[in-house]
Amino acid sequence: MSERIIPIVDHHYAASVPSVPADTGSAPQQPTDRFHRPLHDLRISVTDRCNFRCTYCMPKEIFDKHYEFLPHADLLSFEEITRAARVFMALGVRKIRLTGGEPLLRKNLERLVEMLHGLRTPEGLPPELTLTTNGSILARKATLLKEAGLDRVTVSLDALDDAAFRQMNDVDFPVAEVLRGIDAALAAGLGPVKVNMVVKRGTNDAQILPMAEHFRGTGVVLRFIEYMDVGNTNGWRMDEVLPSQQVIDRIHAAHALHPLEPHSAGETAQRWAYDDGAGEIGVISSVTRAFCGDCNRARLSMEGKLYLCLFATHGHDVRALLRGDPRSGLTPVSDEQLRAALAQVWTARDDRYSLLRGTAAGLAQRAERRVEMSYIGG
Ligand code: SAM
Ligand code: SF4
Ligand code: SF4
Repeated sequence: MSERIIPIVDHHYAASVPSVPADTGSAPQQPTDRFHRPLHDLRISVTDRCNFRCTYCMPKEIFDKHYEFLPHADLLSFEEITRAARVFMALGVRKIRLTGGEPLLRKNLERLVEMLHGLRTPEGLPPELTLTTNGSILARKATLLKEAGLDRVTVSLDALDDAAFRQMNDVDFPVAEVLRGIDAALAAGLGPVKVNMVVKRGTNDAQILPMAEHFRGTGVVLRFIEYMDVGNTNGWRMDEVLPSQQVIDRIHAAHALHPLEPHSAGETAQRWAYDDGAGEIGVISSVTRAFCGDCNRARLSMEGKLYLCLFATHGHDVRALLRGDPRSGLTPVSDEQLRAALAQVWTARDDRYSLLRGTAAGLAQRAERRVEMSYIGG
């Protein structure tokens, strides 16, 4: 067997400070990128910490007791996040997803939810607010989050069986507690609840059918995610990816399925419904079926760096614009300047890693240092 080389990571990812155009008034109101993709979704990572050590995301060998997480002062404050979100909404963002690390570990997260819920689109509507969580403390938080204005949650759960779940999260967390979190979310009105299962061939793929059968008929939408080559630490190998088509085939053999139309352009999951009316499932096939064509997502890290792709090697330092940066003599910019600078960044975007994965350009990108999933969220 070939040896896995696990490189050392720190959080000093390459980033540059976006330039502010002199004529802010001529910045487009709703910018599109080089492939005519608008900006619609903003994923905000609120912490780099997590109480799980999923092997595909924060492997224990790297994220151990010596690993240096970011100091609190480096994180964007709730006020800074809200200000950035307001400006992003002026550029087209309508949906905001809070993520991490484990977002529920950020103290008083419901306060941030409340602040974001208070924002308005140019049409006078609040943003659609969602959260992705490992569910470990959701049972305690669901009602507070709903009351603060959260619309929906997505819970990650990779197995129903405790032993298989442990092999994925590496911390021996009980499945029952995550299921309790899902129930609490349903009871609080945070539905339709989605459950994300990352499938690793040979590790948890025997759990596909039990998971499908558990959530059939409950209203919970289970989505199977192909194990992705995000970051540089998870030792990703193509032979551990189970193509989504095989997931569909396995479930279809037990419970007939038919495809559904997407809800909206840019949707990451392909939807399938049970023929007998027991609800729907989804597959997210980032490896075998690239969906870069209408990718309208931007990601803001906990320390305010903006990434235009999950596989990005370079970020845009939004925090330096928000706070100013004494080292480079930069003073904080106005909202209008921030809007113009971000419009310029989005207009120049040409990211499409999944489409390039097998090509020379994709391989060159893979060889570079890419951000980790726990740093920019899913
Ligand atoms: N801690 C939260 C959670 O697990 O839901 C939020 C952050 S986590 C990085 C967001 C999503 O990314 C989770 O659904 C997780 O399963 C998924 N993810 C992480 N690493 C992945 C990988 N290598 N391939 C596919 N999905 C991955
Ligand atoms: Fe933590 Fe989520 Fe990453 Fe698992 S996938 S280690 S729960 S951030
Ligand atoms: Fe979007 Fe990048 Fe994923 Fe393509 S690879 S869908 S551009 S995040």
